[in-house]
Amino acid sequence: MNKHWPSERMRGIERTLIRQIHDKADPSCLDLGLGEPSFPTPASIRNHLKANIDRWHLGYTPNAGLRELRELIAGQCGFAVSADQVCVTIGAEEGIWAALTVTVDPRDEILVPDPGYPAYESLVKIVGGVPKKYPLDGKNGFLLRSEDVGSCISDKTKAVILNSPNNPTGAVYSKKELEKLSNILDEKNVLVISDEVYRELYFGEKPGSVADHARNCVVVNSVSKSFSMTGWRLGWCTAPSKLIESIISFNQLAVICPPVISQHAAIFALKGLADEEKKQNFEEMQRRRALALTCLEKYTPFEYIVPQGAFYIFMDVSDKMPEYGNTLEISLRILAEKKVVTIPGVAFGEKGEGYLRISFAASPEHIVEGIRRIGQFFKAA
Ligand code: PMP
Repeated sequence: MNKHWPSERMRGIERTLIRQIHDKADPSCLDLGLGEPSFPTPASIRNHLKANIDRWHLGYTPNAGLRELRELIAGQCGFAVSADQVCVTIGAEEGIWAALTVTVDPRDEILVPDPGYPAYESLVKIVGGVPKKYPLDGKNGFLLRSEDVGSCISDKTKAVILNSPNNPTGAVYSKKELEKLSNILDEKNVLVISDEVYRELYFGEKPGSVADHARNCVVVNSVSKSFSMTGWRLGWCTAPSKLIESIISFNQLAVICPPVISQHAAIFALKGLADEEKKQNFEEMQRRRALALTCLEKYTPFEYIVPQGAFYIFMDVSDKMPEYGNTLEISLRILAEKKVVTIPGVAFGEKGEGYLRISFAASPEHIVEGIRRIGQFFKAA
């Protein structure tokens, strides 16, 4: 019998362009490609762990996570959900995977944003679904408009992935628009998978959640960005009762349970015991955003959408493409010639072509010098 490896579903699926760019960077590079805050995890969380690790039972936990953590998540997510509707996962990433696995039947279509977080498209393919991109336009602030959503839905559409605040654009849906979108999606019986990992990083009105309105919705979130805990791999999904049992079964079969130590750390964090440091980090992030915007004005001629959330600026360099090539070429040249990491917009889909993503999660020194060098690159090259 002819055996084919890798499997058909993994063929053509690679690590994202974001990783490939980072792999080319050496330690002397200024990193404006970062997808995580450069702050360490709050010292209070680390100290809590050091003080208690000998006391805790470090075995498996229930598959859905420790009860105390599930209750804290349900109490804090800002919309009505019970602890029984929470499953603790290995970061939001596993939450997205779980949500898709329990939703998608072969050939179901899932709407994913373009530009959007690249894992969505690949994970839909991995679970056997068909990703259908909904185009986002800089002219509309990179937001899916409620008047356009109907035309994206076909009778094969099972779910739509929304991400607000958004990676890579920094866009945030208004509460009113979320309500309108939710009403349409509910009416068409389309599930919403709402990725809210950046929900606590906002610079205008506090972002709402589709879960405030939509009947059928799975929300994924984590402590990764809000508490600078990316490496702890601790997230969760909340889901309607009819889906959560399947998500918990998936969690058991795929990972048994999230790491117990990380669950204890998240309990501490969600009790508010690290809030002082979290607030300081958030204030620092606001300063870095202001600094990055000032530097962009000073050193570059480019337009961008002023980010309302997350820590990314999506900068429109399309005018330079005839002279410099596509954004992958531009990004690779900036890396080779100026030693600055930026992420080409095409890493997030075809509609991202023409943009560079710059992260202001980097240190202030890297922000200033990195943007200065980007400006220099376009002047000198
Ligand atoms: N969603 C988005 C939009 C992200 O940017 C990221 C991380 N870069 C994730 C999900 C994954 O987050 P986590 O660390 O919680 O798995």
